[in-house]
Amino acid sequence: MRIILLGSPGAGKGTLAAEIDKKYPVAHISTGDIFRENVKNNTPLGKKAQAYMESGKLVPDEIVIEMMANRLREPDCEKGFVLDGFPRTVPQAEALEKILEEMGLSLDRVVFLDVDEETVVKRLSGRRVCRSCGAIYNMEFKPSSRGDICEKCGGELYQRDDDREDVVRHRLKVFYEQTSPVVCYYEGKHIFSRISSERHGHSLIEEFEMAVGAKE
Ligand code: AMP
Repeated sequence: MRIILLGSPGAGKGTLAAEIDKKYPVAHISTGDIFRENVKNNTPLGKKAQAYMESGKLVPDEIVIEMMANRLREPDCEKGFVLDGFPRTVPQAEALEKILEEMGLSLDRVVFLDVDEETVVKRLSGRRVCRSCGAIYNMEFKPSSRGDICEKCGGELYQRDDDREDVVRHRLKVFYEQTSPVVCYYEGKHIFSRISSERHGHSLIEEFEMAVGAKE
């Protein structure tokens, strides 16, 4: 299974990718997670990405493309992969096509998670993350019973800098300007599916399985 998940910040790509990862033998590749890990460890890549990330801007294409060209060649990708947060621009989509072609691979499906802008603002600006174990809460939809302390490990909950409402609105603007063309890039292809991330009736993983025809 070689899949791209497309969608605005907060559309639920990360949540869905984690569910796919649990159920199917694939490598879950989140460019946002890779960058955050590098920033945390103060690596050269992290130093290059940090200022862009904190202000909600995209990291320049050449940095992201080089990182992904290396990541996709790692052995765990042989079993398949789910890309979460990449490609985010048309040049990244074109570069991905080239990388896969060089590797003799093709994509099985591109799944676009469609969601309303105001839903995203509520989801993201209410999100809190545990500093110790990474568990995710939402002040409105899934609060911790211990306030700003993690229910699971007692760690402190914090808001990611890029989840502040002003930054979220900027990230959405960046998405509509730079990533909507990526949706158009794939939309005409037979591998493209659109699913609703508003969760009416079916769970996200069920919607996904219907889209990729993977329901057992
Ligand atoms: P995410 O968690 O996917 O929203 O990513 C967090 C931040 O990492 C984004 O706001 C960007 O600054 C950066 N980032 C992640 N993926 C990409 C990408 N494919 N291209 C450029 N920047 C990215």
